[in-house]
Amino acid sequence: MKPTNTILGEYGTTIFAVMTGLAIEHEAINLGQGFPDTDGPADILADAERATKEGPNQYPPMMGLPELRQAAAQHNKIFYDLDLDWQTQSIVTSGATEAIAACLFGLVEPGDEVVLIEPLYDCYLPMLRRAGGVPKLVRIEPPHWELPYEALEEAFSDKTKLIMLNTPTNPAAKVYTRDELEFIAGLLEKHDAYAICDEVYEHLTYDGKPHIPLMTLPGMAERCIKIGSAGKTFSMTGWKVGYSVGAPKLIEAMSKAHQFLTFTTPPNLQKAVAYGLGKEIEYFKSLGADMQAKRDRLSEGLTKIGFEVMDSQGTYFLATDFRPLGFNGDDVEFCKHLTIEAGVGAVPFSPFYQGGLESGVSHFARFCYCKQDSLLDEAIDRLAKHFGGV
Ligand code: PMP
Ligand code: GLN
Repeated sequence: MKPTNTILGEYGTTIFAVMTGLAIEHEAINLGQGFPDTDGPADILADAERATKEGPNQYPPMMGLPELRQAAAQHNKIFYDLDLDWQTQSIVTSGATEAIAACLFGLVEPGDEVVLIEPLYDCYLPMLRRAGGVPKLVRIEPPHWELPYEALEEAFSDKTKLIMLNTPTNPAAKVYTRDELEFIAGLLEKHDAYAICDEVYEHLTYDGKPHIPLMTLPGMAERCIKIGSAGKTFSMTGWKVGYSVGAPKLIEAMSKAHQFLTFTTPPNLQKAVAYGLGKEIEYFKSLGADMQAKRDRLSEGLTKIGFEVMDSQGTYFLATDFRPLGFNGDDVEFCKHLTIEAGVGAVPFSPFYQGGLESGVSHFARFCYCKQDSLLDEAIDRLAKHFGGV
């Protein structure tokens, strides 16, 4: 029989689904896949309920409900002083994941080069390759995840169509600095390239570190698409409502793919997200402050047990080096062991690098801290008992 698509056929099941499946099977506390264990604000849930009951629940406009597109533009004005025309510069998608696919399918021509920075969020590479793009990978590495300017410069050429930039970044939990972004902006101008900016964790940065959208740098408004997600901003990862803003030409290109991918996104959820984006600024500030306290709680616990814990400047995640615990095996083995034997699920780092276990980074586990304090404490307890620490 004929083969199915060979590019996607190469990939196994995503590590998030694999580790969550294992955690469920072994009744482990799941600090692997990144999702909060408490749903977001009750008033947003109530708004979704009202919108569902009142309807209509038929196809909304292809580009998204005007009220959500306006709210997304306004939100970017309030937080980043971006001046956007909602009619030409915003689009709603079914999650950031669909936005990423729509950007790649809408912008990339087969043979175009695309610069990516590893470790990478899992869908970037398969979607890019399926779109016919040629990946040019640059690595950041623990413990400090410094951007290698020279390697980045070398990755760009006249064939570069765009860079995929994720800040705050999953899984490294790095927040790009203005200097780094200026360097990237210079390369985009030099090579006439675009940027897909995955900023789903925009409101989750810590210790006063600001989130700076690349789009706010001089000359970048014409070159960037900035992607946001209700999943992260309102702690409802199952909702899959994404809102992107960007240059009109780029949003139009994205819409060409979106109309054939999903066409629309559930209208009731769009209404509730529009309502949510209009919430008082305090809500967005407290989201980060609450998460920072959780980061500290888990970080302290894991450090006491003996993990070497990297700085987490943003996101939901802590990167930890488990070698000090004396475990004899790679990160995939470690995370399986942890889930089955200690009753705590985590995600290995190597799948986020090309080459996986051969990547040279196979001694790191990612822990997720967007959980209730009592659950984090219970996880720390279980790990302490297992490793005989504390
Ligand atoms: N980008 C990054 C970096 C993520 O961590 C996630 C995780 N959910 C997504 C995109 C996907 O977002 P969504 O659930 O809105 O599709
Ligand atoms: N973004 C989440 C994480 O990094 C998972 C998303 C997914 O399961 N696809 O854990």
